[in-house]
Amino acid sequence: MLQDKVAIITGGAKGIGFAIAENFVAHGAKVVLADIDAEHARESAAKLGGEGIALGVACDVTDADAVQAAVRTATDEFGALDVMVNNAGITRDATMRKMTLADFEAVLDVHVKGAWLGTQAAAAVMREQGSGSIVNISSISGKVGMIGQTNYSAAKAGIIGLTKAAAKEVAHQGVRVNAVQPGLIRTDMTAALREDVWQAKLAEIPMQRAGEPEEVAKVVLFLACDLSSYMTGCVLEITGGRHI
Ligand code: NAP
Repeated sequence: MLQDKVAIITGGAKGIGFAIAENFVAHGAKVVLADIDAEHARESAAKLGGEGIALGVACDVTDADAVQAAVRTATDEFGALDVMVNNAGITRDATMRKMTLADFEAVLDVHVKGAWLGTQAAAAVMREQGSGSIVNISSISGKVGMIGQTNYSAAKAGIIGLTKAAAKEVAHQGVRVNAVQPGLIRTDMTAALREDVWQAKLAEIPMQRAGEPEEVAKVVLFLACDLSSYMTGCVLEITGGRHI
């Protein structure tokens, strides 16, 4: 599906990002894992086959120069940038009564500013190539709003606006921009949830189970490759039917 294509996955060292990278490599892509934890990114790249197939680089997605550098790594080392996955994410959950401005800003920065910087930098290369696919990782929290997540819900809804606006700007240049909204997926991010919170979320899911990172990765592959060639500005939910 992605033979000889080149992809960057931000936050690709672990979790959903790593599952996306693994699936891309299985489908013939070369990948750059751009993660704030450089050591972890390099270890994960080695697991995917190392040099010639996967590279791990230090990249804080809130730093414009670091995002540009990740894009240069893809074009210099692998010769192109065909797919950009803006996946890096954090949570700083608290009700508004307790949430600090710093918690609010940190989450907005990583998700909205990070996805914007990644989209902008990738689109610059892709529009010259006349092709490319950008996939932004939103969340069902951005559709319905979750208690304790005024920062995260705002950020993930912001990513949808950004995705649709960017899609309209670059469509005529052969570049597609889409988003996914995962629900409850089993990663380190959700492992931090209290057991009663986990059970309450589970009770809302018609399919009665959490999703696995690989199940998000399959949908991201679809949006990244030619199977979705006539789709742009779309938002696909990966939730086991939760909040439909
Ligand atoms: P995860 O396991 O915590 O992985 C996130 C990765 O992003 C980590 O490697 C993390 O590094 C990295 N990262 C954090 N801040 C960064 C920054 N400023 N620049 C670059 N990398 C950064 O989380 P996940 O569950 O796989 O989540 C991946 C994406 O899916 C996120 O956007 C998340 O919001 C979204 N999502 C997740 C779920 C879910 O249920 N898990 C549901 C909906 C949406 P460190 O570990 O060193 O911080």
